Amino acid sequence: MSVLRTLSDIELANKVVLCRVDLNVPMQHGKVEDATRITRLVPTIKELVEKNAKVVLISHFGRPKGEFVREMSLAPLADAVSEALGGKEVKFALDCVGDKTQEAIREMSAGDILLLENVRFHKGETKNDPEFARALAGLGEIFVNDTFSCSHRTHASISGIAEILPAVSGRLLEEEVNSLQSVLGENLNGKVAAIVGGSKISTKIDALNSLVQKTDKIIIGGAMANTFLKAKGYNIGKSLCEDNLVDTAKEVLSNAEQENCKILLPVDVVVAKEFAEYSSCRVVSIDDVESDEMILDIGPATISELQQRLQKCQTLIWNGPMGAFEIRPFDVGTISLARVVANLTKNNSLISVAGGGDVVAALKVGGLTEEFTYISTAGGAFLEWLEGKVLPGVSLLYK
Ligand code: ADP
Ligand code: MG
Repeated sequence: MSVLRTLSDIELANKVVLCRVDLNVPMQHGKVEDATRITRLVPTIKELVEKNAKVVLISHFGRPKGEFVREMSLAPLADAVSEALGGKEVKFALDCVGDKTQEAIREMSAGDILLLENVRFHKGETKNDPEFARALAGLGEIFVNDTFSCSHRTHASISGIAEILPAVSGRLLEEEVNSLQSVLGENLNGKVAAIVGGSKISTKIDALNSLVQKTDKIIIGGAMANTFLKAKGYNIGKSLCEDNLVDTAKEVLSNAEQENCKILLPVDVVVAKEFAEYSSCRVVSIDDVESDEMILDIGPATISELQQRLQKCQTLIWNGPMGAFEIRPFDVGTISLARVVANLTKNNSLISVAGGGDVVAALKVGGLTEEFTYISTAGGAFLEWLEGKVLPGVSLLYK
């Protein structure tokens, strides 16, 4: 197995260390809504400070498409990072490159922290423009990648810069890669199940096809299940569905049959005529959905069937919620199934790994994040990892 270069492999004292982090956290009215991603960065930042590095944090926020967008400024994140570090000062630079930024870095002492403005305010970032990568790399002496969640991107601050400077992984990236490698590495243990949900098949089709080969069963929920149900001839009323992917769903079903992978679709569902908080809803068998109804969650019979099935599995990989969990009561299916997984994990009969922004948010609402074997902070990168792809940002960090 390949081994990552880490913070233990490099001399950090008095060096300007450019550390790529993921501060793209959910915000409401300038306040951080969920600080999970920040909290998980604390060990790396603390270690850099303790080892007397000059710590320069680089991140993106949102999709500003190469220009300044006030709402996507990282300025409010300096205080949030400072708070996560117990009040240690975090300075902010108004740009991520240029003279003023260089000057701010020259003024740093060992152990100081400086957060740079959103790298995506420059077009060169997402294009991995070599000149922009050189401008970033020119700010420091060492590059630390601590963003597994962005490492599927060939962007300047992730891969371009790692090709120029000595590059090592931060502690969070190291933990993510090692955990996923040990749970989902070459030799998957025992019977393996995957739960795949969320809104779109289109974003998860490659992952589905790869999981069909690697797992014994795939549990499909969320709006994604609707397209599969339609492919199997069920009436799904006015449920969210990707009509252009019904044939793709059929292909996944037939691949699965060939590979001996069982695809499990909901046997009952929660339907409503409107998508609104506490709108009147009912639980129906999957063949009783009316034409003016939409499927918004999996039902209780599905949960108990899945409970039986999961008892016979040793490893579970979960991505995507089972319903429109942001609106009550359509979070019940995801949270009930998560409780089943949490109990099996607690009894040591199941190794459970979950990844993906929305499913992790749902687990958080249910207070269940601690109950899984491992929770990845990554969404897209987690999916690409499942597909067996080499993540460009990670591949540059191996010994
Ligand atoms: P993740 O971030 O965990 O990978 P996705 O981004 O793929 O998940 O999908 C999450 C979204 O899917 C949520 O916004 C949720 O409301 C939506 N969703 C899930 N099930 C349904 C459904 N039955 N109808 C409409 N939207 C749904
Ligand atoms: Mg999502």
